[in-house]
Amino acid sequence: MQSDLIATKRVFPTASTSATEGKIVLETTKTLWLLSMTAGGLVGVLFFASWSALAVFLVLTAITICAGHSVGMHRLLIHRSFKTPIWVEHLSVYLGTLVGMAGPFGMIQAHDVRDWHQHQQSCPPHPSHGASFFKDAFWQLCCSFKLTDPPAFRIEPNVESDRIYRFLEATWMWQQLPLAMILFAIGGWGWLLWGVCLRVSVSLIGHWAVGHVAHHGGHQGWSVEGLPVQGYNLPRLALITFGESLHGNHHAFPHSANLGIEAGQSDLGFLLIKFLEAVGLASDIQGPKSAPARQGLRRTDPLAEMSGSAH
Ligand SMILES: [Zn+2]
Ligand SMILES: [Zn+2]
Repeated sequence: MQSDLIATKRVFPTASTSATEGKIVLETTKTLWLLSMTAGGLVGVLFFASWSALAVFLVLTAITICAGHSVGMHRLLIHRSFKTPIWVEHLSVYLGTLVGMAGPFGMIQAHDVRDWHQHQQSCPPHPSHGASFFKDAFWQLCCSFKLTDPPAFRIEPNVESDRIYRFLEATWMWQQLPLAMILFAIGGWGWLLWGVCLRVSVSLIGHWAVGHVAHHGGHQGWSVEGLPVQGYNLPRLALITFGESLHGNHHAFPHSANLGIEAGQSDLGFLLIKFLEAVGLASDIQGPKSAPARQGLRRTDPLAEMSGSAH
């Protein structure tokens, strides 16, 4: 039992909560979901390959990861790093649900509990990506870390009571079905297998792989001293992850809508938010300096200056 656990925005340790006592358990549904999507994706690659199927895969992956996962789920729903009309929020979170990782509440909880773990003085190996590459793959993709005495978790009431979010949460796997039917009607098995199965499989495995590497090493513009888990930037993956691989910047400035805050760092997700602002659909966009600096924040790369686009 630890008594010095800190609380974060939605995670509140109780008197008996320990951040380290727990066990890793196999998640059957999560594992079968990944295996079936990967199997369907492989069938698509081996037997239904075509240029049009590849185009469907690329376009749908880009839309769901950029507008959905990165901008809708992560920067908006989880971090509230900008404001937007509710229909844009619902649309972007729907696109994020189509990634096939979890529903809106599941995504918030997975992100915030991991974040809470990484804020503590000691963090167990599961939420810190501390295991070796393949062991961490198994842990993250097929298992979960169940705390013996978990902290209380509270989503803000306006989100928790939102009927669209409740519907998406209850049906997040089924949300692939309408898209699958449309793809099948237009392009047959090739479009369905590439546009749903392969896309979901690549998104899940890619998300884990980037998360694993981004907690082990890479460029770091800032460190957060006193914490056992650090985030690192993977600039060469920034383009295809729409800025999400600049994870060191995210650890330093979690409130910032802009992840590519240093010169030369590509952040297409932030470009989308700036586009929404230009057409009157985004406001109050938070930058690195919009909130007080995190405790322990230290510049580790004094040669790189923050670009002029940073707020
Ligand atoms: Zn985050
Ligand atoms: Zn992290």
